[in-house]
Amino acid sequence: MNAADFDLVIAGGGLAGASLACAVGTLGRRVAVIESFAMDDERQPSFDERTIALTLASRRVFEGIGIWDAASADACAIDSIHISDRGRLGAARLDRRHVGAEALGYVVPTRVLGKALNQRIGELDNVSLHCPATAERIERHDTAITVHTADGAALRAPLLVLADGGRSPLGRQAGLGLECRHYPQLALVAIVGVSRDHGNRAYERFTEHGPLALLPLSDRRMALAWTLPEARARALCDADERIFLDALQAGFGDRCGRFVRAGNRRAYPLSIGHLSRPASVRVVAIGNAAHVVHPVAGQGFNLGLRDVAELADHLAERWRDGADIGAAAGLDVYCDRRLAQTRRVSRFTDGLIGLFTSSAPGIGSLRAAGLNLVDLLPPAKRFLLERTMGRHGRLPRLARGLAPGAPR
Ligand SMILES: Cc1cc2nc3c(=O)[nH]c(=O)nc-3n(C[C@H](O)[C@H](O)[C@H](O)COP(=O)(O)OP(=O)(O)OC[C@H]3O[C@@H](n4cnc5c(N)ncnc54)[C@H](O)[C@@H]3O)c2cc1C
Repeated sequence: MNAADFDLVIAGGGLAGASLACAVGTLGRRVAVIESFAMDDERQPSFDERTIALTLASRRVFEGIGIWDAASADACAIDSIHISDRGRLGAARLDRRHVGAEALGYVVPTRVLGKALNQRIGELDNVSLHCPATAERIERHDTAITVHTADGAALRAPLLVLADGGRSPLGRQAGLGLECRHYPQLALVAIVGVSRDHGNRAYERFTEHGPLALLPLSDRRMALAWTLPEARARALCDADERIFLDALQAGFGDRCGRFVRAGNRRAYPLSIGHLSRPASVRVVAIGNAAHVVHPVAGQGFNLGLRDVAELADHLAERWRDGADIGAAAGLDVYCDRRLAQTRRVSRFTDGLIGLFTSSAPGIGSLRAAGLNLVDLLPPAKRFLLERTMGRHGRLPRLARGLAPGAPR
């Protein structure tokens, strides 16, 4: 069978894959996206019940790829963050005014992001969407790679981008199988109604099992992500709404007023891991296919979107120079650029979980002192905020409001 030829094939059209298609689509190259679920399928696992916090840098990327206007229709800005440790007096308050920023980040439902991304892909003539279709097998040649789908199609390009969230057999075939360590808890996710205006404040409250995060949404609603032991998380998912709201009130306290309503509840497994090198011969992995982190600091997809912006830069430069985008030497440069940040975020999130779930003697007082210190020291606040907003380190062009490959 003859394979259809493209400049780039992306396996997985979820948050990371669809974002990359939009970014590369503007460069006028022929891009194919293979996605298992139809655009309007409610079961699409990337666009689901989750509501995610996006950094300011991620907003710039979404502006650059032309989806922010549609995505922001349902976005809520985060003006401040309150961090506390349950049962202790220590607390840290971070505010956008500490760094003169328009917002610390934005909260957006993943379903809204999915709609905006798919709409943009539909506008790009050079991006072809193969969906529903499942990528099943790869075949490498000297200068190209072919992806075979379960329905018998074959798509060929010099480079395959694996954006399947680590869900398909392609990663193992390509030598990029992600090994993860599982946390013993689940994250219970729901939209809850509160009795008081939240004033665009996000809350991160550490409990003995892990963090309980509440992110602001419009109309006195907040997005909850609550780390709980597996059995407790499952029981609360199935519990009567009143029992659930009482348990949440007892777990969080009344800093947001009363919890008055709860939408659909769903529990997610939590794990951590990253590829030691996110590329092999003619394949590069991005998003969750390359790294998975605990959602404690809302960094997972922000990290994935940074992959997208960095890879778009890399591809634009290689195409401009007439170079082979799948060549190992070029991919090494991309891997080096991405690994440092991936390792840092991975260590930071895992360290936070370890620190705040530890019951070692004296550690509670140390945590309280640490939070108070952050609260009192403007340089410590700025250090944390620059990272929270994704403004730390070397930024790819899209995250600085420039087109991929534009002169620096
Ligand atoms: C509870 C929770 C809260 C979170 N909160 C935040 C947050 O606040 N901020 C943040 O930045 N991140 C957050 N994250 C992380 C974020 O959700 C992930 O980083 C993101 O979903 C990863 O996107 P992805 O596109 O890489 O992978 P996925 O979302 O897994 O998408 C993979 C896509 O590939 C498709 N696919 C799979 N196999 C195949 C195949 N063989 N053929 C074709 N298609 C295939 C799937 O259908 C899917 O569409 C959170 C995660 C959890 C669990």
